[in-house]
Amino acid sequence: MIVLKGAEVSAGIREQVQQMLAGFEGPAPKLAIVRVGENPDDLSYERGAKKKLESFGLRVQSYAYPLDISDGEFKKAFQAINADDDVTGILLLRPLPGQICGKDIEQMIDPDKDLDGISPVNIAKVFAGDESGFAPCTAEAVVEVLKQKGIAISGKRVVIVGRSMVVGKPLSMLMLKENATITVCHTRTQDLKGTCRGAEILVAAAGRARMLNAEYVGDNAIVVDVGINVDADGKLCGDVDFESIEEKAAMATPVPGGVGAVTTAVLARHLVQAFFKDKKVL
Ligand code: NAP
Repeated sequence: MIVLKGAEVSAGIREQVQQMLAGFEGPAPKLAIVRVGENPDDLSYERGAKKKLESFGLRVQSYAYPLDISDGEFKKAFQAINADDDVTGILLLRPLPGQICGKDIEQMIDPDKDLDGISPVNIAKVFAGDESGFAPCTAEAVVEVLKQKGIAISGKRVVIVGRSMVVGKPLSMLMLKENATITVCHTRTQDLKGTCRGAEILVAAAGRARMLNAEYVGDNAIVVDVGINVDADGKLCGDVDFESIEEKAAMATPVPGGVGAVTTAVLARHLVQAFFKDKKVL
């Protein structure tokens, strides 16, 4: 089985970003990471994103708020970031605590700064196949891995396990745009094993540690594991039982070191795209 390493794909995106920035003088594009509370997963993602973007020559500023901030106070702070001309793009770490109306924030975020595709405008563009918006970075990262590794998507049977608005649903639209034949699975899917075994490209985005073993994988399938989970021993793992599929799959992404590394690279590319769209360079 060939291991599809995220670092190689990320390096390819880094080159694209550097080409886009070549010859540009002045302050680099700036990402605002907005976080409420101190959730360890958020902190870890924030650290990873900051490190990656800064290594690409981009600026990152964190905006952190206490977990008990009121809806009104948070919206006021968010609107100020949204309106700040020095902020090129925004990454909002979610879920937000219950007292903050997440739907209002999705409506409020400037679609041109909405790098992770949460605003209704960007979601609509993803569903319409309109490339002028931003798709959620993780969904785009899955397509990026396949494309950069030269894996044909057109006409392939693609099965996606998971139907969230962050991964499964937008990814199904991105794959459809690439002319794949899509099946989206979820907790009510009957015969999940059989459906997954029929996939030429299987994408795992269920958030269940090592749930998909060799029984779910067809011969020579390509497996992309989006899951980031912590197992009973406190070890980071994906939704795929990587060792069990080694004799079965043709290629698979590892966890860690797979899609996660590509997601932050896609975020960096979105930031630069947002920057030059403003300046009408692209
Ligand atoms: P989510 O909102 O919890 O959605 C999980 C989806 O999987 C739901 O649609 C759910 O079905 C389905 N599902 C759960 N258990 C299942 C089962 N036993 N059989 C079939 N379907 C099942 O999760 P998410 O935000 O999409 O994230 C999914 C995973 O990706 C998580 O591990 C998360 O940490 C990871 N992730 C990684 C990145 C990255 O950069 N690599 C970014 C975002 C998320 P129902 O709709 O029926 O409940």
